[in-house]
Amino acid sequence: QDGDPRARLIPRYVRVNRNVWTMEEAVEYFVSVGFEQSGDPIESRKSFSIDEHIPDLLLFHPTVQFHEDESYKTGKIILQDKASCFSAAVLAPPAKDNCVVIDATAAPGNKTSHLSALMHNRGKIYAFERDRRRFRTLQHMTTTARCTNVEPLNADFLLAESTDPKYERVTHILLDPSCSGSGIVNRLDHLQDYDENEDGQEERLNKLAAFQLSMILHAMTFPSVTNIVYSTCSVHAAENEEVVSLALSSDEASGKFILARREDVLPSWPRRGLKEKMLEPTDAESVIRCTPGEDHTNGFFVSSFIKVSSTPLKIA
Ligand code: SAM
Repeated sequence: QDGDPRARLIPRYVRVNRNVWTMEEAVEYFVSVGFEQSGDPIESRKSFSIDEHIPDLLLFHPTVQFHEDESYKTGKIILQDKASCFSAAVLAPPAKDNCVVIDATAAPGNKTSHLSALMHNRGKIYAFERDRRRFRTLQHMTTTARCTNVEPLNADFLLAESTDPKYERVTHILLDPSCSGSGIVNRLDHLQDYDENEDGQEERLNKLAAFQLSMILHAMTFPSVTNIVYSTCSVHAAENEEVVSLALSSDEASGKFILARREDVLPSWPRRGLKEKMLEPTDAESVIRCTPGEDHTNGFFVSSFIKVSSTPLKIA
């Protein structure tokens, strides 16, 4: 446990990997090793509970460690902050054999494995990761998590040709690009990719925002794409609401993409976007924010773009 007092309010989140394990098996296992499904996991090291927003997520006391546990080593559980589970939960690709998904920025693979589980290991996920070392981590993680519908690609998503026949039927794209990491307070997601250099903050944020925007605009060029989720572990509006507003006012989005309505973006989550930072203040209801210290999570942001019109690609 590190020094940030807000980290003490963040439970140890454990996502049950449905590619390998059921919730019933997981609960039975944790009870068999001495935990109790009662009490408050923030108060007691013996307690655990099921999350109210993410059905496959368990909460334990912040100091409980699972890295040496058999369930972790065999891919039955994924150690993933609650807020970071929102991205795949909002994208929610259907569990259909001809559903094709891109995870554009995949390593270490938490969200890729979550997508795979939500799809019941059916269909196909192209998981891009441009960094070679992180790509190896991604390969290892998706193998351990038994994601048989994932094809990891050591490639830059921005260089992927959206006209390539391989991507012709891609309907769902997850974008969780490099960001400032300003929302991370407990360092448990240490494999996230962020730049902690505080020098020249404004310049750094501008650079990150330009890159993040280019990722969204590129995703919009895929011919069959209907759903794009963009998320960050940043608390800065410059990487969140402002990037989303710029994307919505781009030529790529014009007449084609809008934000999904609040009811399709985790409606029970109360904290929404910052109105004053969005071009269209009412759009703030469509996006999600998580605030460390107040939400029992790290800081996070999730938005969901949907294709307006056209006949949607039929997923049988
Ligand atoms: N989604 C991941 C997860 O939940 O485990 C975390 C992703 S991390 C925030 C961003 C990742 O995107 C880094 O591993 C980084 O190397 C990779 N990345 C950045 N730009 C990329 C690009 N243009 N194409 C592919 N990967 C990229």
